[in-house]
Amino acid sequence: MKKKYSPSELPAAFCPLPWTQLATSVRGFVRLCCNTTALRQTDGSRLVLGGPQTVTEVWNSPPLRAARKQMLSGKLPELCRFCSQIEARGHTSKRNSLMNRQPDWLGDLKELIASTSPEGALPHHPVSLDLRLGNVCNLKCVMCRPDTSSKWVRDFELLQRQSPLPQSASRFLQHPEVPEGSHEWYESCELLEFIKTHGSGLRRLHFSGGEPLLIPMHKEILLTCVKQGYAGQIRLSYDTNGTQIDPEWLKLWENFAAVELNISIDGVADSFEYIRYPAKWQDFVDQMTLLAQWRWPSYSVRWIITAQILNIFDYRQIFDWVSQMKLSLSGDHRHQILWNSVRSPECLSVATLPDALLKEIHGEIDEQIAAAPSDPKSSERLALLSSLKQHLTVVSRIQANERPELSDFLQYVAALDQVRGTDWQRAAPRLAQALRC
Ligand code: SF4
Repeated sequence: MKKKYSPSELPAAFCPLPWTQLATSVRGFVRLCCNTTALRQTDGSRLVLGGPQTVTEVWNSPPLRAARKQMLSGKLPELCRFCSQIEARGHTSKRNSLMNRQPDWLGDLKELIASTSPEGALPHHPVSLDLRLGNVCNLKCVMCRPDTSSKWVRDFELLQRQSPLPQSASRFLQHPEVPEGSHEWYESCELLEFIKTHGSGLRRLHFSGGEPLLIPMHKEILLTCVKQGYAGQIRLSYDTNGTQIDPEWLKLWENFAAVELNISIDGVADSFEYIRYPAKWQDFVDQMTLLAQWRWPSYSVRWIITAQILNIFDYRQIFDWVSQMKLSLSGDHRHQILWNSVRSPECLSVATLPDALLKEIHGEIDEQIAAAPSDPKSSERLALLSSLKQHLTVVSRIQANERPELSDFLQYVAALDQVRGTDWQRAAPRLAQALRC
């Protein structure tokens, strides 16, 4: 068993990720983790993996060395403001959670620190790669955009031509205004070569996208790990829409140490099909049934419900479906539900709801918490209701004049419906009724 340390035994601003993991954006920009923007070089340009820059060069490049040195000197880099802000409010940040768990793949944290040169360089290669291999995707979810879903590109062109959009949504969809990097960044770097040569040191591979299961390079990486004999010591993890899971993937994954799947489920039936357009609910149910029947003991699923205005009334249906499939809510222990929330485009955030409606939802959640039996079987449901309530409490405290306009939401979904031939009121009937549309 690897030794674990209490945070007081380590530098106050230490985060293990810059010592263990190389993370990229969909355009190959190098980041400290998925919660930061790209690292900048001294001339202000973004640090990019690809072209002439190899994994080895980037790993000990000046921006990464500077971030490590700053953490060891007791201050989180400005890029880590997401964690700093959460910690300043007394909540648990990604950094805190990692330090609390100290998963085995991180290695011995004190040894990592001791191996750092005065310039912030490390003698070892990353043990984890967090790879976003471009934007190829089969879906165009309402809260996504062209930069992260290739399917969104055409819809955005049509929206720009046909319908006026709220300013904030337009800004969000246009990101990045000046396109840099390339969605095929991995074609021009020695990523596969690095895995062939140094894969024996890898302990974790995380894939996101786009939809990683549709990206050929992702499969090439897995096959390389199997062929080189490294697969058995690597944990895989994914952010996936779940619609591409088939028996072939399950068979390939069984070569690895473990597989963690983060699968989005933002609604049931019509609500699912509207939010995760143009996925088909029945196909998704079939794929999840296949997963539920998988007997391999080393996989786990985190169901991610991303709370937004369109599904805020649907959480009970989602709980019931997951429960009925015995995929958690005290069914299968390998399955867990987590909340996330839509922050952009702002008009889809729960903060867009009028106060009276937020109060009504609060009241319903309170009633359910009060009515829930206090047996162990109900504990997961209770924890989820409490965390949704906490989330809504934070939203309710935002000043009314800082909230997105409800008219922006109505304008956005009307524009989407015009381009896609969909009907948001059919997908979210309770919301439509509450807003008296
Ligand atoms: S401190 Fe937070 S934002 Fe910075 S690298 Fe660690 S987890 Fe990411």
